[in-house]
Amino acid sequence: MKKFESDAKIVLNHLGRLTSFLQNLDANASKEDSFNFPLEIIRKTMMFDVSVLYKVSNIIENRLILEIVKVMDPKGLRVDLKEGRKLRLFLDNPDKKHVNEVRAFLNRRTSYINVPGMGCDIMGYVYLPENFGGAYLFGGDFGGKESSIKDHEVACIEIMCNFLSTILLKTRFEHQAEYDNLTGLYNSGKIKQKVEVKIKRFARKPSSSACIVMGDIDFFKKVNDTYGHIQGDLVLKKVGDILSKSMREVFDVAGRYGGEEFLLIFDETNEETGFQVVERLRKNIEKTKFEKADETGKILKNKFLNITMSFGISGFYKDSGVKNAIDWISRADNALYKAKQNGRNKTIVFKGQ
Ligand code: GH3
Ligand code: MG
Ligand code: MG
Repeated sequence: MKKFESDAKIVLNHLGRLTSFLQNLDANASKEDSFNFPLEIIRKTMMFDVSVLYKVSNIIENRLILEIVKVMDPKGLRVDLKEGRKLRLFLDNPDKKHVNEVRAFLNRRTSYINVPGMGCDIMGYVYLPENFGGAYLFGGDFGGKESSIKDHEVACIEIMCNFLSTILLKTRFEHQAEYDNLTGLYNSGKIKQKVEVKIKRFARKPSSSACIVMGDIDFFKKVNDTYGHIQGDLVLKKVGDILSKSMREVFDVAGRYGGEEFLLIFDETNEETGFQVVERLRKNIEKTKFEKADETGKILKNKFLNITMSFGISGFYKDSGVKNAIDWISRADNALYKAKQNGRNKTIVFKGQ
């Protein structure tokens, strides 16, 4: 196989497409979405026969652990590369096949190897901070006798890997600004903003209705005090999962309002319907078996604990008298307080102070 050089026009066109992809990238794009397009563009620009994306999954002493995230091998030349497979490479003495990966990782920049008569191999470094999951390596192989990596190709890979890094950072940052890390639900800033948006809509369309629901885990402090913070986090995460699942099926928006408090928004729903939905949710949580973990976070087999939640509902409709977002939320909070006073594991609809 012969490697054809991309001409400047093609490279510029591809860089332009990467820029516009970055500009239009949706904050909610999945990891897959933010990877697929740029990787395909890089592969096409470079005309790789095979290209592969690794995630730096760990460094243990002198071992670099890479996970194969994506393989693009349209001609089926490298059946050994399987997505999900992990490679363990020695940093001080890499095996011949992976010298480039180790070099790119150690120098944090593009590395290449030309083996006369055997083809060549180039590996770029994609920066990502550790708290965002750490770096990636992206590179490709050219088969064929005449292959050799040129300076402009090294520069091109470097620019494109920096693009990839920026694309990933953008989605991660935007995600972090709106979502709660632990539960995956909207964070408190975003959920309050969603309530504000609903209020504004009422001004335009007074005939609409909506409910908000404030939910709070019962005796959650006890969970932390008895089993530790890790167990507490595990419960919060599971509650987040249950809410996400219900959200897709029965209501619109859910967020983590505070520590163990959650705020839900039911669009075009009256208090009666809202009450029925929340009651189903409350009973579902009551019968859920929450996994138990030891102090290190290790899940214990066949050990579970039960928790319950209390809920307060407040409706916004034509004559509800809700003044603004704060008022609306505090009504739901007030109903929640009553649910707690009435013995917990209850749902109460706000009916005036
Ligand atoms: P109540 O039934 O009245 O709601 O009692 P409670 O114990 O649930 O409420 P309280 O407000 O006394 O305690 C809430 C606890 O939630 C205290 C705090 O340590 C814990 N908490 C808040 N955020 C987190 C978190 O992110 N992780 C963990 N593990 N615990 C948290
Ligand atoms: Mg609580
Ligand atoms: Mg609370």
